[in-house]
Amino acid sequence: MGSSLPLLLFSRKKRCKAIIYANDRTRDGFSEEVFFLKRARIIYNPTSGRETFRRELAKVLERFEEAGYETSAHATTGEGDATNAARIAVERRYDLIVVAGGDGTINEVVHGIAEAEFRPEIGIIPAGTTNDFARALAIPRDINKAVGIILNDNHPKALDIGKVNDQYFINIAGGGDLTELTYDVPIKMKSAMGQLAYYIKGIEMLPFLKPVTTRIEYDDKVFEGDIMLFLIANTNSVGGFEKLAPDALIDDGYFDLLILKKTNLPEFLRIATAGIRGTHLEDENLLYTQAKRIKVTPKEKMLLNIDGEYGGELPGEIINLQQHIKFYVSNEFLTKELETKRNLLQLEEGSE
Ligand SMILES: [Mg+2]
Repeated sequence: MGSSLPLLLFSRKKRCKAIIYANDRTRDGFSEEVFFLKRARIIYNPTSGRETFRRELAKVLERFEEAGYETSAHATTGEGDATNAARIAVERRYDLIVVAGGDGTINEVVHGIAEAEFRPEIGIIPAGTTNDFARALAIPRDINKAVGIILNDNHPKALDIGKVNDQYFINIAGGGDLTELTYDVPIKMKSAMGQLAYYIKGIEMLPFLKPVTTRIEYDDKVFEGDIMLFLIANTNSVGGFEKLAPDALIDDGYFDLLILKKTNLPEFLRIATAGIRGTHLEDENLLYTQAKRIKVTPKEKMLLNIDGEYGGELPGEIINLQQHIKFYVSNEFLTKELETKRNLLQLEEGSE
């Protein structure tokens, strides 16, 4: 097939681009084999979550093939490999990358495609320890349902991603003494206990929290003071705190910025509890706003957390890349998003 020339390009059904090759002997018969349909690359982490995806892989491949995708799969071999696999998928002009894994694997894939001019669409099968991004897109953990969202719901939607210095994030970037605790949770403990591991570790660390004097420039405003932590949310689903940034939209070009000012331990616990309920936004210890561009300069050493992982040291400039990558979202997501937009509009009208 190496010397074949694409002779004809046309659409078969709604979603199948087809190329017939000039020297393909079977083309007169128009058998299925001569159609080069849309191509999908599944990138999966074989050790992710409870390893159930690997057992279902054959079935998943079959469903994509039946839906008209020429499909292949790549098992990641370790940290950074999903980024390489995604880069290769870009070079080979795959239409779709299906990521089976958690936030970490999706983040790596985004790193592999974010700077490319041609960016494949991304579908998600949540199979990780933490699946905050999938939760934000209302994609369930059930593998069959997640595949159905890509193939049947079929809504590729251009969403924002964040860039900080030369790294990318999908959910959140943050810093402060508190966020450092997430790196201390041993991997084994993470897999076995999921989110719970973070909270247990978090409670253990609470007495050691200390405020850091920090300058935060956001769009044309400036905050300067002692802070416990700052969070820059792209989605409204942050570390299991779904109501932390309840009105965050993932396509408006704005981050939701939360700055927790200096507090003592009882205040901190009160705000954290309110954060779970979504009643924290009015708190005087909290600054909550939206911004496109944020620059964080701490006066002392402060580590940067990107999507729950260590992201180097601050200072950092965080930029919203609006509607940069197309992700497959669910019908449920679109309904919820419409609701949020309606509520925001009502609030705006009410305040006029
Ligand atoms: Mg936003």
